[in-house]
Amino acid sequence: MTNYTGRCLCGAITYNVAGPPVVVAQCHCDECRRTSGTGHAIGAMFAADSLTFTGTMGEFKYQSRTGSEVTKCFCGDCGSPILGRNTHTPDHVTLALGAMDDATKLRVEVVIFERDKQAWDSLGDNVMTFDTQPDWKPPN
Ligand SMILES: [Zn+2]
Ligand SMILES: [Zn+2]
Repeated sequence: MTNYTGRCLCGAITYNVAGPPVVVAQCHCDECRRTSGTGHAIGAMFAADSLTFTGTMGEFKYQSRTGSEVTKCFCGDCGSPILGRNTHTPDHVTLALGAMDDATKLRVEVVIFERDKQAWDSLGDNVMTFDTQPDWKPPN
């Protein structure tokens, strides 16, 4: 059994959870797109009773398209997405992979809401890439 730790950007929220995750999923749904600020969210599902965390998370609830209630939990100070709960799977939580300290051994196993994937959420063949932030400013 491997334990995974994570934290938000500012460090107000930290967590520890016992793995391995049930599944690692990439989701392109409208809600994940908006709360992530990018084209998709990647989440790892764990047993809810194996999670401990420090700090107080902000919450936002909405109805899913199948009628269950989804709760997105985030750091109220820095805004980092931390985890999601769904009344359809009340014994599990889905942790945002980007907040995990070391997820190098985890891989996406399934993609959901592929139909909602945005065209801009794929890289073309001739996109320039840089190892770090380049020394660049918009032309005057
Ligand atoms: Zn924070
Ligand atoms: Zn989603």
